[in-house]
Formats: sequence, structure tokens, C-alpha cells
Amino acid sequence: MDTSSTPRSAVVLGAGIAGLAMARVLHDFFDAVVLVEPHPLPADDRPRGGVPQAHHIHGLTARGLDLMEELFPGLDRELEDAGTPRLDHGRDVLTCFPTGNAPRVDTDLGSRLSSRALMEARIRGRVLALPNVEPRTGLRVTGLVTDAARSAVRAVATDDGGTVPGDLVVDTTGRFSRLPRRLADAGFPTPPTRTIDAGVGYASGLFEAPDQSWLALIQPTVCPDRTRGAYIGKLEGSRWMVTLVGACGDHPPADQEGFRAFADRLDNPVVAAFLAEARPVSPLHRYVRTENHRTDYHRMPAWPDRFLVAGDAVCAFNPLYGQGIGVALEQALLLRSLLAARTGRSTPSGPVGVAGVAELTGLAREFQRRLPRTTGYAWRMSTFQDAIWARHRAGRTTRRDRAVTWYLDRLYRAAAADPATAATFARVFQRAAPPTALLGPRVLLRILRGG
Ligand SMILES: Cc1cc2nc3c(=O)[nH]c(=O)nc-3n(C[C@H](O)[C@H](O)[C@H](O)COP(=O)(O)OP(=O)(O)OC[C@H]3O[C@@H](n4cnc5c(N)ncnc54)[C@H](O)[C@@H]3O)c2cc1C
Repeated sequence: MDTSSTPRSAVVLGAGIAGLAMARVLHDFFDAVVLVEPHPLPADDRPRGGVPQAHHIHGLTARGLDLMEELFPGLDRELEDAGTPRLDHGRDVLTCFPTGNAPRVDTDLGSRLSSRALMEARIRGRVLALPNVEPRTGLRVTGLVTDAARSAVRAVATDDGGTVPGDLVVDTTGRFSRLPRRLADAGFPTPPTRTIDAGVGYASGLFEAPDQSWLALIQPTVCPDRTRGAYIGKLEGSRWMVTLVGACGDHPPADQEGFRAFADRLDNPVVAAFLAEARPVSPLHRYVRTENHRTDYHRMPAWPDRFLVAGDAVCAFNPLYGQGIGVALEQALLLRSLLAARTGRSTPSGPVGVAGVAELTGLAREFQRRLPRTTGYAWRMSTFQDAIWARHRAGRTTRRDRAVTWYLDRLYRAAAADPATAATFARVFQRAAPPTALLGPRVLLRILRGG
């Protein structure tokens, strides 16, 4: 295939949030962007096939909201117009630690509560409205087509027996990506992987309920004794998404009676009072594939040029920590900065233009090498307690785990008693402060004073 004589095209595999964000960026640098997705893409806000997580609560970190606005200016306003509440992560979220509820404090940590389906549909609407983005639904990618020297990917094979050519191919096929197998089929080595599984399962449903003094409630699981937790959020249309979670295999059932019985044993009077007045308006759905899983493609000794992988296909987090969307958006912005540097064309305000093939040489390696910078923080955040859960499940708790568990218990006491510690806690989880902020002198002093 002589790519120098064909129009410059990019192919994105998977139309989840990572794929859509990538397509948005590629639109600025390519003549044509093809989006390959096996499932139909509805024109409205309904949950769609291929996104089983759409039935569960979704939070966007404060940083994630900023990144979303950078890629899709005005989207926050659009979500507001669709009736989604805006929340302050300190003031409007009731966090129920085992040691008591955290004081609610004003912060600058703004975010938006929306259903996953609405958020994805609004992002999709923006991307599909771009003149050079072409969705090809009903097609599943089955393999990579490389050049004769196996140095670069030139196309993807699809399950209809055809191929889709592209000067750049971006794989965003999600948590269950079969990319390691496809790379092996194309003659590349096996990438190292890492899995940390806290055995978390979800059950969620939509409810109608009276307004509360809070917009969202979080009851975290705490290793080793508190396997059960709850996440409740007010969404568009004044409906409430209630997600019950269980770690270490203690999963909530997906029938109304069992769901409520599970909630009773949360031992949380606020949740009990909420559910007593709540009326279900949707079926309950379960989800149990919540393990933290990452594939270190950047460590592979050989990597095909003109081929990138991003989103959950590289690094999928335990969804409890609400990190995946923000990370996927950050990766799209990473690609934008690399393409802008290579083409010498700045975006979004400056002129944009088509990337030449020569400008793409080496881009794939550079992108994969830099990708861990976008996932590192979220990975540490999501696996910190999950690694302790995983060892606890396997009966291999270490002395260090016990020390960390002791520290966390004291930290929760401090956060439940002290507004400043509660605010620091929120800042760390919203990626507005590094995790080391929870080891700062003020927090330590509070802990030494016994919370
Ligand atoms: C239960 C649950 C709750 C979550 N809650 C949150 C949250 O609160 N906050 C947050 O930030 N993140 C959350 N996440 C994570 C978040 O959804 C993802 O991190 C983020 O959307 C990026 O996903 P993705 O686009 O990489 O993958 P996906 O959303 O999985 O999309 C992958 C796409 O690829 C398509 N595909 C698959 N195979 C092929 C193929 N062979 N060919 C072509 N296309 C293919 C699929 O159909 C799908 O459309 C949650 C995840 C789960 C499971």
C-alpha cells in the first residue's frame, strides 16, 4: 500500500469515551478519521451495547471535568442544560467513613453528576458531527495488517473479511481488548501485564426519591472488615443512581429484595432512610469485572510504528475510584500535544493541518513511552488499598499491610473529625493534590492527636 499517494487517514478501534476523545484529536490532523465499532451507536442518550458499565454510577473527577472542557468546550454547559447537577466534591458529597461522616466543606473541586449514557452520548454527538469522522458500526476488528517488514501497522482486518487501511491506527477496544493476541499473531512479543483484584462486585439501579441535603453519598469499603459500600448520586431527570458494592467476593445481589437486604447490612442510617423512601424505576444490573489490570506495552522490545493503544485497553482501574474517564481524556490530550509538536501546527486555537506520513514516524513509540505518565497516579490510587484486599483474599496479609490499615483507620477518624483533613482527602481523590498530601504534617498531627 503506498500511503504517500492516499489521503491521510486515521482509524480508531472502539467508540467508547477513549475512542471518541482520540477521534476528536485526530480530526484536527487527518483528512479522514474512521471509527470502527461492533455495536450500533444510538442517536439518543440510551445505554448502548458494548458498555455494560453504563448501568452503574459514574463520577468524573474535578480534573476530568477540566480535561473534558479542554477537548469539548461547552460540554459542561450542555450537560447542565440536560439537567445534570453540578457538585462541589467537598460540600455536596456525604462521605461515610466507618468512624463517622466527613464534615462537608466548600472546595474548588467542581464536577458534574450525569449518567454514563448521557455523557457518552453528548461526547459522541460532538465527534460524529465533525465532517471528517466516519463511524463504521457493525464491524469488529479481528487482526492487525502490517507492512512486509512488520515495522508498521497499515490496516486492520475486520470480521466481515475486509480491511480498513489507515496511516495511523489507534486501539481503544477497552478492558477486554484482545490486543496482546493480535500482536502475537502479527509476530510481536508478549507484553508484560499486571492484575490486582480486590474481588469487587457492583449492583446498581435507578430510583426516584425525595431531595436530600447532599447530591452524592460515598460509603467506601475498608479492608479488612468493611467489605460493603455504597455510592449514590443524583442524575439528570431527578433520578438517583444507587450502586451497592462488595469487596473480597461479598457481592450485592441484583434482585430488589436482596439488594435492600444487602443495603441494610451497610449499617448506615442515611442509606437506610434514603432507600426507605426510594422507589425503583429500572431493573438492577450487576458487574463484577472490576480488577485493576494494566498491560505494559511501553516495555515491549519491539513495537509497530503508526499504531497506538490507549484507554482501558492499556490500563483499566477498579471503577470504584472513578479514574478511567479522566485518564482517557488526558491520553487524547497527550496525543494532541505530540501531533502538534511534530507537525508544527498548534491546536485548538491555532491553524490545524494534515499530518504527513513522515511526521508520523516514531510517534507510536513516543506515545506509548509517555503513556504511563497519564496512568501512574490513578494506578497508585486504585491499587493502594486493592493490593491489601488482594493479599487479604489470598490469606497473605503482610506486616506492612497491617501498618497501612492502621494508618488508614486513623486517617478516616481524622477526616471524620476535621474539615481540613476531609478537604485534603477530597483533593487527593479528585487529583487536585498528590497522595503524599495525606502524609503532610497537618494530617499527621491530627492523627497523632487521635483524630
Ligand atoms: C462498572 C464500571 C463503572 C465505571 N465507573 C467509572 C466512573 O465512575 N468514573 C470513571 O472515570 N470511569 C469509570 N469507569 C471506567 C470508564 O468507563 C473507562 O475507563 C473509560 O470510559 C474509558 O474506556 P474505554 O473507552 O477505553 O473502553 P470502553 O468504554 O470499554 O469502550 C471500548 C469500546 O471498544 C469496542 N470494541 C471492543 N472490541 C472491539 C473490536 N474488536 N473492534 C472494534 N471495537 C471493539 C466496544 O464495543 C466499546 O465500544 C467505570 C467502568 C466500569 C466497568
